[in-house]
Amino acid sequence: METYKIGIDLGGTKTEAVLMGPEDGIRLRRRIDTPTVDGYDAIRRSTTSLMMETIQAVPPGRPFTLGIGIPGTINQRTGLVQNANTTCLIGKPFQKDLEEALGHQVVMENDANCFVLAEALKGAARGHDLVFGVIMGTGCGGGLCIHGQVRSGSHGIAGEWGHFAVDPNGATCYCGNTGCIETKISGSGVENHFRRKFNTPLSMHQITAGYRAGDPRCREIFLQFIDDFGRCLGGLVSILDPDVVVLGGGLSNIDELYTLGFQAVRRYAFHDDLKTPVVKNQLGDSAGVFGAAWIGR
Ligand SMILES: [Zn+2]
Repeated sequence: METYKIGIDLGGTKTEAVLMGPEDGIRLRRRIDTPTVDGYDAIRRSTTSLMMETIQAVPPGRPFTLGIGIPGTINQRTGLVQNANTTCLIGKPFQKDLEEALGHQVVMENDANCFVLAEALKGAARGHDLVFGVIMGTGCGGGLCIHGQVRSGSHGIAGEWGHFAVDPNGATCYCGNTGCIETKISGSGVENHFRRKFNTPLSMHQITAGYRAGDPRCREIFLQFIDDFGRCLGGLVSILDPDVVVLGGGLSNIDELYTLGFQAVRRYAFHDDLKTPVVKNQLGDSAGVFGAAWIGR
């Protein structure tokens, strides 16, 4: 009897659920707002009820798995959430609370790890063995997939390159360090850079459009962003030498990352003829929730 798979993608603003039947056929998909007031208890309640509703759509008597991607990692020793940019989750026994409420095992994984798993199994990185997934949106994260399996690492932080502190003179990061990669090449990082330098707030979208239109201030900040992208990703490629790098998050839609950005990666990586494909995701916003369904067991 084939097992049904339930995946939940808990994001900062939306929480999405999917139910997959035999051969990963999609039986149900739902999206709700993630509560932004009342902290952890509200998120725990809304996630539990979304999971319960999805479980009710499983045909009676059929076995099912539950997987959830969260914007953080699980401390492998304590089982508590750590490193979450939805900070009310930090230090909470979220996995245990869900399992108790549902009476069912829940596999919980970092959302970037769900993304890279989905792209490795069914998306842009299909057929590659060692896959690094980069998420560049409001923040910057990553994940590692080897032989079709997520590698979380002994502390649950594998792939968390966004908090590699590369610049002691850089901006302060929410993690407590200075000059993290996230402060350089995330959307919020680039926007902060523009505001500090020119005392004007522009969005990442506006900065990109301004660069394309030849605006000198946007050009300066955008080309710095491209250079930072190349340096950070080039260093990562030199450490890991992956078979492919797949980009996700809002910034992955910036075409220049695959042309100018790729040239910068080649410049900084420790090889004079680097061939590592740097590709755009294929599953789009669905990668997180599909990956969450596929981590279930
Ligand atoms: Zn940081």
